Amino acid sequence: MSKKIRVRFAPSPTGFIHMGNIRAALMNYLFAHQKDGDFILRIEDTDVERNIEEASAAILNNLRWFSLNYDEGPITGGEYGPYLQSERTDKYQKLLNELINNNLVYRCFCTKQELENKREVQMAAGQPPRYDRTCLHLSSDKVKEKVAAGQPFIWRFKLNHEAIVEIDTLERGVIKFEYKNFSDFALTRSDGSFTFLFSNFVDDFLMQITHVIRGEDHLTNTPLQAALYNAFSCKLPRYWHLPMICNVEGKKMSKRDFGFGIQELRDAGYLPMAILNYLAILGNSLDPEIQSLGELTKNYNFENISSTGAIKFDAEKLKWVNHKWIERTPVLKLVELVKPFLHDQIDASISLSDKKLEFILEKVKANLKTLVDIGDLISFYFKKPEINILNIEKQFGLDKAKIALDIIKNNIDLADKTEQFIEKIKSQSKDYGLKFNEIFGTVRYLLTGSFNGISVHDLMEMLSDEEIIDRLKI
Ligand code: GLU
Repeated sequence: MSKKIRVRFAPSPTGFIHMGNIRAALMNYLFAHQKDGDFILRIEDTDVERNIEEASAAILNNLRWFSLNYDEGPITGGEYGPYLQSERTDKYQKLLNELINNNLVYRCFCTKQELENKREVQMAAGQPPRYDRTCLHLSSDKVKEKVAAGQPFIWRFKLNHEAIVEIDTLERGVIKFEYKNFSDFALTRSDGSFTFLFSNFVDDFLMQITHVIRGEDHLTNTPLQAALYNAFSCKLPRYWHLPMICNVEGKKMSKRDFGFGIQELRDAGYLPMAILNYLAILGNSLDPEIQSLGELTKNYNFENISSTGAIKFDAEKLKWVNHKWIERTPVLKLVELVKPFLHDQIDASISLSDKKLEFILEKVKANLKTLVDIGDLISFYFKKPEINILNIEKQFGLDKAKIALDIIKNNIDLADKTEQFIEKIKSQSKDYGLKFNEIFGTVRYLLTGSFNGISVHDLMEMLSDEEIIDRLKI
């Protein structure tokens, strides 16, 4: 029987959760769920200084918001815990001791400045910068002397520079790396704490992770971690390095690019499922493109993933996907979702009943691309727009504007009877050679301040008779 699949999402609590994080979480989630495996959350909090608790809470909160539930992790617990790296130091120490006992590591006393100087010399000579192993060749007496003198040191892993490692990846098949191109890497820092490379390996190893799905920025770490797997005579996991998400200019996305930060998207009224759906579309082809988490779990094709080095973020496409998800959202749920956005933008909206909001949403839902649009879309409902006849003349020409306004004026008595009013202005427009968009555009402008948008019929159903008459009478 093959081993149960175990994957993990291993974010560092930096306080900034971005698209790259959530894509890694999603791909791990889909992989585990599709293949009946376990999805583990591990918080890598050893390398960050401030606000760890707050930032970790933000990770948990976001995973909940996205409904990316995990089988093992902080709070949930599990057999392989603890799931916070800061609580796993004893495990790192234990494995380091094994490497020390097997003579696979050595102490390095070189200072940062010395290392920097060596680097510069190598670069100037056109050589790739690689640690020159000064400390590997120290006699044991010399080492003892330095330790006794309290000289700070780090532990380095002794790579076999003759060896070549083969890494099995989902995106490119087997990739070969020659260790001659790598330095003996650090397992600890001079304060005794453990490096990302080492703690990340120890955790994957002890948590029996079978597939490591993470960003391509970790590709160069993979061969080094593979050396550690070999040191413990353990089979390597399979890897999937996710291509970097780039902005329109083709540069790796950063905080400055709209859409990269998850909080920014939440504040801009994007739905969690739309973001996940968009991330699933990136770097793969989905048919149909709009799919729920359950559908993606069933249908996501891991054989068909993109192996290109980078993929481009398309804000318009994300908006389109969001629009599709708003359309799919039941209106009662939408009422709850838009309320905070609406209350934020329009004070008077606080007194709007849920029933009325539901009624309005039925009418405007089709024009809602993000939840934040709600304010602009229905501000007319709360406040009579400022009307300038010149705008109508500019839009349709002097003569047409005059005819349209006359028709409206002649039928104002019918304004409390929607169907009749519409029929009447339609037939009179025909008689006077006015196009429907000219008459309806004018009515819409008088009611809302905008020539385009919600249908006149729906607008008249939304506003009270008094409001309609008041706005059409000019
Ligand atoms: N803590 C690392 C990161 O956030 C995890 C990388 C990995 O998944 O191995 O980039």
